Amino acid sequence: MNSLASLDVAGKRVFLRCDLNVPIKNGVITDDGRIRASLPTMKNLLERGASLVIGAHLGRPKGEFNSDLSLAPVAKRLQELLGQTVDFQNKHAASILLLENLRFNPAETSKDDAERAAFAKELASYADVYVGDGFGAVHRKHASVYDLPALLEHAPGFLIDAEVDVLKKLTHSPIRPYGVVLGGAKVSDKIGVISNLLSKVDVMAIGGGMVFTFLAATGKEIGSSLVEKDLIPTVKELIATANSKGVKLLLPEDIVVAPEFNANAQPTVVPADQIPSNQIGLDIGPLAADAFAREIKQCKTVFWNGPMGVFEFANFAHGTKVVAQALTELDGISVVGGGDSAAAVRALGFKDSDFGYISTGGGASLEYLEGKVLPGLQALGL
Ligand code: AMP
Repeated sequence: MNSLASLDVAGKRVFLRCDLNVPIKNGVITDDGRIRASLPTMKNLLERGASLVIGAHLGRPKGEFNSDLSLAPVAKRLQELLGQTVDFQNKHAASILLLENLRFNPAETSKDDAERAAFAKELASYADVYVGDGFGAVHRKHASVYDLPALLEHAPGFLIDAEVDVLKKLTHSPIRPYGVVLGGAKVSDKIGVISNLLSKVDVMAIGGGMVFTFLAATGKEIGSSLVEKDLIPTVKELIATANSKGVKLLLPEDIVVAPEFNANAQPTVVPADQIPSNQIGLDIGPLAADAFAREIKQCKTVFWNGPMGVFEFANFAHGTKVVAQALTELDGISVVGGGDSAAAVRALGFKDSDFGYISTGGGASLEYLEGKVLPGLQALGL
């Protein structure tokens, strides 16, 4: 298997695919976790005498230039963190060059193999070897992720290696009890992973916006909360599977509701089966948060993806905070899956070192745990 250490990079130009897809508000990076996570591979390559052509994406520009999704602020931050000049876009000759958002070119994400292949060929002409380290994009069959490594000698970077190591631990004989906590907005994003994990975990706790589809599936009134009605039958089946497999499925016993989706909306705690018809559920309640925390702390392995409520609003961040706190107190491996979940715990004041591992890729880690083949890992021989 190719490894970064065995790749001959001295004096060579390395195309380094990173995940630098950081949250940016009004031109300011609000969480630079993904940039920091990319530094070890960059530094290693530079120390070994390579020059870098870094390719990355930001958001979903749909194949055209969009100044809000330019990587310019990322180039600036990267330069600060590396303490070295980072050239941006197409100025050759520097030892570190960051290309503009690869997704400004429709070929990067094209479903047409030939279009992607042509773009990959162009990218290959910038470099001698390829290092894949953009874990957050490995579930995408994109030119710079999937097609390009086939054209150059290649190896995974340190970040991808570390991510895959952790996911392997979660997949092959995790230390039990094994718990998973899932939240976030939509059930539709998580059906695959829930269904696959039900045959692997001992405990599954559900919160976030997606919990209301579960509550509706158990016959509860959910007021004006987020719901995916068409998925109620699927969710009913998942609940039945959990029961038949002996998985402890935790749904919240209480909910924090409010009359509107608003930072200043008045919060009220109600039992999960008494959500008033004119209210929206915006967080799991305090009893539920404590129950989830108790179960989490009894596990030896926990994977968590997705906030328990609208943590961006202080009034509805309690459930997410309590769950995060429980993960930090776990006597075992805690894995926070996903850029957004990682940004959430940092925004709530936790440190990366409080957790066993913080994955940079939400979608990628979920698809790995779903048991899917990830194109970007396949392309690197992983
Ligand atoms: P995801 O990207 O699927 O992980 O979802 C994250 C988003 O889910 C966050 O921005 C939260 O604000 C949102 N969210 C969590 N709980 C709720 C809820 N009860 N109602 C609406 N949105 C929610």
